[in-house]
Amino acid sequence: MKRLGFADIADRPHYWLADARAQACLIEGSLPGTPDFEGLVRCDIEIRDGRIAATAPLGTAPAGAVDLRGGLVWPGFVDVHTHLDKGHIWPRSPNPDGSFLGAAGTTLSDRSARWTADDVHRRMEFGLECAWAQGTVAVRTHVDSLAPQAEISWPVFKAMRDAWAGRIELQGTSLMPMDAFAEAQGDRLADIVADAGGILGCGTRLNGGAHEALPPGFRELLERIFRLAMDRGLDMDLHVDESGDLGAKALIEIAHMAERLGFKGRLQCGHCCSLAMQPDEFVTETLRAVAQAGIAIVSLPMCNMYLQGRSTGRTPRWRGITLLHELRSEGIPVSIASDNCRDPFYAFGDHDMLEVMTQATRIAHLDHPFGDWPTSFTSVPAEVMGLADHGRLKLGAPADLVLLSARFMSEMLSRSQADRIVLRGGRAIDTSLPDYRELDGLLGAPA
Ligand SMILES: [Zn+2]
Repeated sequence: MKRLGFADIADRPHYWLADARAQACLIEGSLPGTPDFEGLVRCDIEIRDGRIAATAPLGTAPAGAVDLRGGLVWPGFVDVHTHLDKGHIWPRSPNPDGSFLGAAGTTLSDRSARWTADDVHRRMEFGLECAWAQGTVAVRTHVDSLAPQAEISWPVFKAMRDAWAGRIELQGTSLMPMDAFAEAQGDRLADIVADAGGILGCGTRLNGGAHEALPPGFRELLERIFRLAMDRGLDMDLHVDESGDLGAKALIEIAHMAERLGFKGRLQCGHCCSLAMQPDEFVTETLRAVAQAGIAIVSLPMCNMYLQGRSTGRTPRWRGITLLHELRSEGIPVSIASDNCRDPFYAFGDHDMLEVMTQATRIAHLDHPFGDWPTSFTSVPAEVMGLADHGRLKLGAPADLVLLSARFMSEMLSRSQADRIVLRGGRAIDTSLPDYRELDGLLGAPA
């Protein structure tokens, strides 16, 4: 079967995409048609000088248009929670038992021994090349920052952000256990982050510990981190309650702290798994506090299904994810992202937001109806990252689009979309994925 290819779209300053289907919730402005039962609108899209010039009713496009034959069109994806600095170390440092502590311990050993600037740079580059080829336009990465790593990794992050400017919007947020912020390195890290134009983040656990009952001095430590951010006008992004432990109740504490201190920046909390295990009353109280504090939540379903509920010889009994539907129905912005990729926290992954959408839809029942859930992979994370033109089909915005041969959500979610076409500024890019062999020398993989 003939597929739409490069030659159809290459280097035309003005053309139409005819007979497309797009999610109504991603079309800004008036809809060019009536959404079907999957939320899809059939339409034509005009591309002029690399930008979206019109989304028009089906049949508007003139002769000579590129015929998508009903195929889906998505805005470029936004991946708001990743760990590019950890990515792809799996071959040299696999997780011994698939547990969270196994992941943390293995990563610490690998980091201490191997994370030179060159090592971090090459693995981050590989991850970004994957994301680029899959159609991702913006990525936020956490940067492991426990001394002495901050001084090594943040300059690499800055260089990568500059090198990828105009292709992938890259944001960086620090990651360090809470107790390390009590030391002088807390101030130093906040300065490094501020200097880099980054976001201040921590994991709400102690160094070497898991996400369990809040440790003594939790509130003092949390307040210190908030004040480090506020003194420098930084946004915050935290790893929160990443366990099924009922004692892991950091989320509501963070919400109350943000309120009490009058935190004005953007604040995102990731994971929040244990919320799904809490009694209803506590859930209600937490959701109210999170909404009140204006916190955005990001869920990482692939990584959490891998890590949570894992015990050797015992079948996992829960999906490991937070209360996505309940959060959304309180009006709380919910993003869904990829998280770790081929490292001890998640053995798999390919920086592919379409895979994240497919997996998340199945894991969290983001269907019947799909509703606004497509925004969680696109416009909601774009908003969190402060990117007004990304993650939506918007007139005047760059034509950064992902075109699929799949015509319906059902087709898209049932088959790998490896044959996707990615447009950047209206032009098809090379979607070849980097070869794993490129990292062999770094990872000590057998020939
Ligand atoms: Zn993470």
